[in-house]
Amino acid sequence: MDDIFDVVVIGAGPAGMSASLNMLRYGKKVLLLEKENIGGQIASAPNVENLPSLKSISGMDFSNNFFSQLLSLNICFKFENVLSVKKEEKKFLVTTNAAKYFGKAIIIAVGVKAKKIDIDNEKQLVGHGISYCAICDGIFFKNKDVCVIGDGNTALQYALFLSSYCKNVFLCTLTDKLFADDILVNRIKNKSNIFLKNYFLIKEVFSDAETKFLKKIDFVNLLNKKQETINAQGLFIAIGQAPKNEIFENLVSLENGFIDVDKTMQTKTQGVFAVGDCINKQVRQVSTAVSDGSIAAFFANKYLENLG
Ligand SMILES: Cc1cc2nc3c(=O)[nH]c(=O)nc-3n(C[C@H](O)[C@H](O)[C@H](O)COP(=O)(O)OP(=O)(O)OC[C@H]3O[C@@H](n4cnc5c(N)ncnc54)[C@H](O)[C@@H]3O)c2cc1C
Repeated sequence: MDDIFDVVVIGAGPAGMSASLNMLRYGKKVLLLEKENIGGQIASAPNVENLPSLKSISGMDFSNNFFSQLLSLNICFKFENVLSVKKEEKKFLVTTNAAKYFGKAIIIAVGVKAKKIDIDNEKQLVGHGISYCAICDGIFFKNKDVCVIGDGNTALQYALFLSSYCKNVFLCTLTDKLFADDILVNRIKNKSNIFLKNYFLIKEVFSDAETKFLKKIDFVNLLNKKQETINAQGLFIAIGQAPKNEIFENLVSLENGFIDVDKTMQTKTQGVFAVGDCINKQVRQVSTAVSDGSIAAFFANKYLENLG
């Protein structure tokens, strides 16, 4: 057994980092576990413009700044994938791909994962033209034509970001509506190399026989039922996110895959809190994730004090 912590926080997105920050400030011994990247989803946002006092910041800078704040408070951090959490009397056993830890309390902050479209070859072409993160992969498509699938804030942010690298960006939507902030919609409309393709349902993706990279995408135009092809070398999918909380099913109750919490962010198991995009709530963004993290930390600290 590696160690025992006051609290084990699972996920280093804004929610998990906020919970960690507050627990550290309460003087608690915190272990923060992250399986992929510091900052979670927001690290892939080209520009974040809805945070108090920060007019505009890249998601990556926001994440790195937040993480260095935790390092300055001596957080114990490990890049490990949490596989299970089990209650053992008054503590919890956390098993990762690399080790086992005990935590007196647990804060789950695992966020959500980008949805797949579920078409043939989607999986095979990831890294070969298909991506779920424009900020991570956009640079590989300099001067090329790309499609973005989606009609929300993320899709529009991706299209705008890509328009500064790529020759042409085709923003493909299932209707003629954009479900995004007005400020983004206006910016999209003013970009000369972004083309809106309304009523475009993706059908098939094709790769080049030699390079194995994406070369064209077939769509059905839902208005006239005709097939349309876009010769694009990149396809960025931004059709929403899905929860991935199955590993906690023994400790929490789920509704449509999201974790139920009370006003203190506690789940149905005492000492297990959940925060951020992974919980059952209406508004999923950085400020609400950060707020959840502070609330959970406050009550997790009380829980620990009552444990004695
Ligand atoms: C492209 C994009 C742009 C966005 N732009 C904005 C914006 O401008 N403004 C805004 O307010 N919001 C924005 N959002 C939404 C915002 O990023 C999320 O609401 C926020 O990141 C949620 O934070 P979170 O900590 O709950 O979850 P996440 O950010 O999803 O972080 C969860 C973390 O948990 C980790 N994790 C998951 N499972 C495990 C496990 N088993 N073991 C260890 N670690 C695990 C994940 O790897 C991830 O790093 C954007 C999202 C995207 C995708």
